[in-house]
Amino acid sequence: MNNSRIASHDIYGIEKWGKDLVVVLGNGEIGLKNPLNPEAPAISLPEILRDLEDRGVHVPMLLRVSSYLENEIRHINECFAEAITRVGYDGAYRGVFPIKVNQQAQVIDRIVEFGKPYNYGLEAGSKPELVIALAHRLAKESLIVCNGIKDAEFITLAILSRKIGFNTVIVLESPKEADTVIQVVKELGVEPMLGVRVKLTNQISGKWEKSSGDRSAFGMKTDQLVTVIDKLRDAGLLHCLKLQHSHLGSQVPDVNDVRRAVSEACRFYTELTKEGVPLTHLDLGGGLGVDYTGEKSATESSINYTMREYCTNVVETVQYAMDAAGIDHPDLVTESGRAVVATSSMLIFNVLEATLYDAQTAPDAKGDDHHLISDLLAITDYISTDRLQECWNDASFYRNELRALFHRGYIDLRQMARAEQIYLHLMARIKQHAAFDNIAVSDEQMTHLADIYHCNFSLFQSLPDVWAIDQLHPMVPLQMLNQRPDRRAVLSDITCDSDGKVDRFILADGISHSLPVHTLPQDETYYMGVFFVGAYQETLGDLHNLFGDTNVVTIDLRADGGFDLLHEQEGDTISEVLSYVEFDPQACVAEFRKMVDEAISTGALKSKDRKTLMGAYRDSINGYTYYE
Ligand SMILES: *Cc1c(COP(=O)(O)O)cnc(C)c1O
Repeated sequence: MNNSRIASHDIYGIEKWGKDLVVVLGNGEIGLKNPLNPEAPAISLPEILRDLEDRGVHVPMLLRVSSYLENEIRHINECFAEAITRVGYDGAYRGVFPIKVNQQAQVIDRIVEFGKPYNYGLEAGSKPELVIALAHRLAKESLIVCNGIKDAEFITLAILSRKIGFNTVIVLESPKEADTVIQVVKELGVEPMLGVRVKLTNQISGKWEKSSGDRSAFGMKTDQLVTVIDKLRDAGLLHCLKLQHSHLGSQVPDVNDVRRAVSEACRFYTELTKEGVPLTHLDLGGGLGVDYTGEKSATESSINYTMREYCTNVVETVQYAMDAAGIDHPDLVTESGRAVVATSSMLIFNVLEATLYDAQTAPDAKGDDHHLISDLLAITDYISTDRLQECWNDASFYRNELRALFHRGYIDLRQMARAEQIYLHLMARIKQHAAFDNIAVSDEQMTHLADIYHCNFSLFQSLPDVWAIDQLHPMVPLQMLNQRPDRRAVLSDITCDSDGKVDRFILADGISHSLPVHTLPQDETYYMGVFFVGAYQETLGDLHNLFGDTNVVTIDLRADGGFDLLHEQEGDTISEVLSYVEFDPQACVAEFRKMVDEAISTGALKSKDRKTLMGAYRDSINGYTYYE
C-alpha cells in the first residue's frame, strides 16, 4: 500500500461513510463490496460501467444494487428481532415500507420479495400508493398501513381488500375522516381495521424540526382524539381500532429524540387503552436516519446511532412503558423508508469538460501597460509561501481597480484581457503554494479558486434534494484514487440554470465548498459517483430544460466478484419528454419537414441537405435527453 493511496482515502472520507459497501481498490478505482457476502472480493465500479458501456448502456445512469437493498431489509428486521429476543419483549415487529420514499416498481417488487420472510409490509400515503400495495402478494401477517387524507373510494378499497386477505389498516387522520369511515362501513357491512394518528408534542432536531411537534400538519390533537373515540364508540366500531400511529419527521439525527418521542407515543397508547380502546399495534412511523457523512454525530446529514441501537431503544422504551402501565406489549410497526432504500442506489455520470480557473503563464510586461497592470504583474516577483494572503489581497485590489477603469472606458479590451490573465496566473500560483506547501487557504478562498467541472446530469431531475433542501450525499471520482487530486472543483450540471450546481461536499475533515479532483484524463472517461440516493430522489425530480429520467440499471453482486445485470430501464427519449409537456412528436416532425420543403422551394436549402437535416432532427427526437 503506498502513501498516496492513503492520502486519497483520507481526503474523501470513504472509510467513514462507505459503510463496508464502498471501498477504494488497489488500482485506485472505487469498489463495491457485497455486505451479504463479506468474504467476496469487492468489484470495481468503473469495471462494471465499462462492461455496461459494452452492452450499450450509457451514463448518466442510476445504478441500483439489489444486494444492498436486500441487506438493509434483512438488517432492520433482524435488528428488531434480536432486540425483541434480547430484552424479552412479547410483541412482534411488523415493519412496513413507505411507498412514497421510492415508488419505482423495480424497487417495490424487490422490497416485497426480500421482506416476505419477515412479514414486512407496505405503507400507502395516497390512493395511487394503495393501488400499488394491493397489486403485491404480501406475507400472511404483513400489514398495509394507509396514511394520508382519504376519500370514500380510498376507504372502500381499503376495507374490502381485507376480504381478499390483506391486513389493511385505515389510519384516521381527523374526526371528519372517522365520519366518512363510519358511513362507508354502514354501506358495506364489512368491518375495518382502524388506526389513529396522534400528534406528538416533542420536537426533533435536524432538517425536519419545524414540521415536528405542535405545528406538524398531521395527526390529531388530544381533543380531536377524544372526539374520534366517542364517534367510534357511538357507531359500535371502537373494537376495530387496533393501531396507534405517529411519525416524527425524517432523518432524526439524535437517538435521544427517538426515545423521547417513543415515550410520548407510549403515554398515548396507555391512555387510549385505559379508555377501552383494544389497541394491539404501536406504529412509530419513519425517521430512522442515514449517516451520509459518516461523522456518527447528531448533525444534519449524520446520525449519532446505528440501526441496531435505534431498534434496541425503541423496544426497550416501549417495554418499560407498557410494563409500568401493566399493559400487554403491542406489536411494533415502523415505517422506515430512507434507511431501507438510500444506500441501494447511486447516480453515475461523466465529466464533460472543465472550465479551469488557471493560467500557467503570465503575459510579458509591455512598455505601454497601464501602471496598475504593471503593479499586478509585479506581484509575480514577490509571491511566496509566507506572503500568500498579501499577494491575494494585492491581486484582488489591482484587478478590481482595473475592472473599474475598463467599465469607464479608460482601458481597452486587450488590456483588460491581459489583466485577467495575470490575475488568473497569480491565483494558480497561490493554489500551487497552498497545495505543495500545505498552507491552509481558507475554504472560502479555495471555492473562489475552484475550477468548474461540467457534468452530464441534471440536478433537478436526479438530485432534487441537493437543490431544494441542501441534502448532502457522498460524491467522489470513481477512478485515479491512487493519485493525489491536483485540482479543486465545483460541479455544474447540464441544465442552463445557474442553480444547477453542487458546491457542498463531504470530505474526511468536514464539509467543503469544493471537491478535490484530478486533471481530466485525455482519453479516458472521468466518472463521478453520487452515493446513497435511493430515498426520495427518483420521483421528486423534475424536467428542468426537459432532461428526462436517466437510464436505470439494477445489478446484483456475485460471490465470485462479478455482477449480474438484473434489469435495464432505458432513460427518457426526447420524444417522451416532449409528450410529457403535451407536444406531439409526430406533429413536430411533420411541421419541421414542411418548413424544410418550403426552404427547398425557395432555393435556400439544397435538396441533398434535406436528408441530413431531417435525419438530425429525427435522431434527436428518438434519442437520449443527455449528452451522448
Ligand atoms: C415520509 C413518511 C415516512 C418515511 O420516513 P423516513 O424518514 O423516510 O423513514 C414514514 N411514515 C410517514 C407517515 C411518512 O409520511
